Amino acid sequence: MADNAPLVIIGTGLAGYNLAKEFRKLDTERPLLMISADDGRFYSKPLLSTGFAKGKDADELAMQDAATMAEQLNAKVLTGVQVSAIDPASRTLTVEGRSQPYSDLVLATGAEVRSLPWREALGERLLSINDLGDYGRFRAALKGRNKVVIVGAGLIGCEFANDLRLGGFEVTVVASDPWLMPQLLPEAAAAAVQSKLEELGVRFYLGCAIESIALEADGLRVRLDSGTELVADQGLSAIGLAPRAALAEAAGLAVGRGVQVDRQLRSSDPHIYALGDCAEVAGLNLMYVMPLMTAARALAKTLSGTPTELSYPAMPIMVKTPACPLVVTPPLSSAEGSWQCSGEGSDVRAVFVDGSGQLHGYALTGAAVAEKLQLTRELPAWLG
Ligand SMILES: Cc1cc2nc3c(=O)[nH]c(=O)nc-3n(C[C@H](O)[C@H](O)[C@H](O)COP(=O)(O)OP(=O)(O)OC[C@H]3O[C@@H](n4cnc5c(N)ncnc54)[C@H](O)[C@@H]3O)c2cc1C
Repeated sequence: MADNAPLVIIGTGLAGYNLAKEFRKLDTERPLLMISADDGRFYSKPLLSTGFAKGKDADELAMQDAATMAEQLNAKVLTGVQVSAIDPASRTLTVEGRSQPYSDLVLATGAEVRSLPWREALGERLLSINDLGDYGRFRAALKGRNKVVIVGAGLIGCEFANDLRLGGFEVTVVASDPWLMPQLLPEAAAAAVQSKLEELGVRFYLGCAIESIALEADGLRVRLDSGTELVADQGLSAIGLAPRAALAEAAGLAVGRGVQVDRQLRSSDPHIYALGDCAEVAGLNLMYVMPLMTAARALAKTLSGTPTELSYPAMPIMVKTPACPLVVTPPLSSAEGSWQCSGEGSDVRAVFVDGSGQLHGYALTGAAVAEKLQLTRELPAWLG
């Protein structure tokens, strides 16, 4: 490793940039290099699923360009380039065929969308939105079109259903799931959200497998296993995300659901760290903003010379379905217990409790959202 090798962060999403900001509060001098496959603009990814209601294009959602970020962070920011390999033994990266040394390396490579088998053949007619560039492409593809079919009824599919409808589009959601957001919600809470979205005009086909999606005229024809056929102008695929860990895996690092790191965010190599969507921190892969902000603060301390263990409180997720306010703190997969649901109409209070009455998670819809603070106080820490 060269003597003056920089600290290198791969990724300029919320994880990469927030880490850099926190790090610069503690260390203004150490050379810092950030490398991104995208254009390095700083933006808040959660705003991508509220942009249609607000009529905002990609440029309006971008908060800073890469050059401004570089200046503010006293960093070099390389954009539009892929890191293709990591060699932990020599502490070097391969970037566009060139070798780049690092002193410490942080992986903030995010997650990639899972693809439907018809994706390639359908080109611009079936897209996913997982970054600002995708959002711009989807908006361009939607010009002059009205009927959108969303494949997937998870958090992202539901948020876009609400947002596109508010933006004036005709929206149909198709999913093999039995109810909305089944990884997060019990059926009663999901039913409340579904009925409010239906009141807004969103149509749902749940529990259906897609047999085929084909180009037709200037749009799409979607055939479901129930025999139903749907016609749409544009498709949005939202069938889930997987941590982007191939680079780490090829370098011989321990990878499970994501890049496996300990509570100091350190991987199986002592000079390589990971945070954000790509990381599995002490067994938890949490693809949300609050966990990565907490991780960025802890890792900044470790990288500036104060080894710091990460703690996670239980962190509520505010789902952006304004048709039906929804807040959820899902139970960790290790928690044992069951959902208990009460409430009326669209105001559902669902709590996940174990045999001794200890609360492990909740989902609140409509007016029941008011109980968020009280219930959050009763939850055990995710990483105490
Ligand atoms: C539509 C949408 C709405 C959301 N809403 C919410 C919400 O309301 N609340 C919430 O908590 N969370 C929400 N999330 C999740 C949240 O936005 C993510 O958890 C977070 O933004 C992930 O940030 P990241 O930096 O880990 O990943 P990313 O933002 O994906 O950044 C990854 C970076 O790594 C770079 N990269 C990857 N591989 C390479 C390589 N080989 N070489 C160079 N660069 C590379 C990419 O170019 C990119 O810059 C939402 C997600 C989406 C998609």
